[in-house]
Amino acid sequence: MYDIIIIGAGPAGMSAAIYAKRAKKNVLVIEALTYGGQIVNTLDIENYPAEAHISGYDFSTKLFNQAKELGAEFIFEKVFEITNNEDYKEVRTNNNKYQAKTIIIATGAKNRKLGLDKEDDYVGKGISYCATCDGNFYKKKEVAVVGGGNTAVEDALYLSNIASKVNLIHRRDEFRASEKEVELVKNKPNIEIYYNSVITEFIGDNHIEKIKILKNEEEVEELNVSGVFIAVGQTPSNEIFRGLIDMDDNGYIIAGEDCHTNIEGIYVAGDNRKKELRQLVTATSDGAIAATEAVKYLNNKN
Ligand code: NAP
Repeated sequence: MYDIIIIGAGPAGMSAAIYAKRAKKNVLVIEALTYGGQIVNTLDIENYPAEAHISGYDFSTKLFNQAKELGAEFIFEKVFEITNNEDYKEVRTNNNKYQAKTIIIATGAKNRKLGLDKEDDYVGKGISYCATCDGNFYKKKEVAVVGGGNTAVEDALYLSNIASKVNLIHRRDEFRASEKEVELVKNKPNIEIYYNSVITEFIGDNHIEKIKILKNEEEVEELNVSGVFIAVGQTPSNEIFRGLIDMDDNGYIIAGEDCHTNIEGIYVAGDNRKKELRQLVTATSDGAIAATEAVKYLNNKN
């Protein structure tokens, strides 16, 4: 039986593994895909203390190596269920069952969809949720970016250096992204901003050729774009914990800054926790706190 099973190998999960290993606990990290989580899609991280510039991939690899060197065990399987038993907790994956005395849930969040007709059909055929992953497919082509947060604005800037033109479509007349980036977007000649606008339809045979947008709730316009980058925020990856772990209406696990869930010995760390600020630095911080709380719980039990 493991002392701590960490579900998710993003920045929160891997930071938790580092703290748990340094406290001499035996630790298993279970990840469905590959280590790194959402941050691997960030080309340049500029706001992590003491790292002026680092790519998301390099950052994740450094974290992964650090956790491995300290002795954390990693397996790559998809978790389907966790159960809380009297003396132990169990994690069921597609291949196995693993037992532990404590669990840290660090499953992060995934990209939110617009929920429009044919959105799923066009994924990989003009629709993308990751500009840094797919931007290069749109060299000298016209694209659209949807959203008004930091991701959308940064995606628009990134794509403006690749695509011929970027149409930034935001549903309100004001961005929620940082002022500095918004200013850059406003000053970029090949970015056109559509305020108070929403996409209503994707059009194309087999691949996006056009989108229909509705401006100010009355004016319909068609834009000839071959790529649409959707950056409208995230939804927490907490579905499998529903029924056991308390969540808010948006599906975020309810826990305070101590990362305790409603179940003793189960903690949550990172973007899937109800919190004010979802940033890399708060994810790694959560990982440290959740692991420290788990270690305290384990030491008190012995
Ligand atoms: P976000 O801040 O939640 O912004 C999502 C945007 O999408 C909002 O502008 C929202 O509009 C819009 N939106 C949501 N649902 C929509 C829908 N159905 N149709 C049209 N528009 C919709 O998400 P994010 O930009 O991914 O950022 C997430 C977090 O990561 C934030 O805390 C952000 O600051 C942080 N982040 C930081 C950096 C950085 O520091 N370098 C980079 C990227 C992200 P409304 O504004 O009208 O709600």
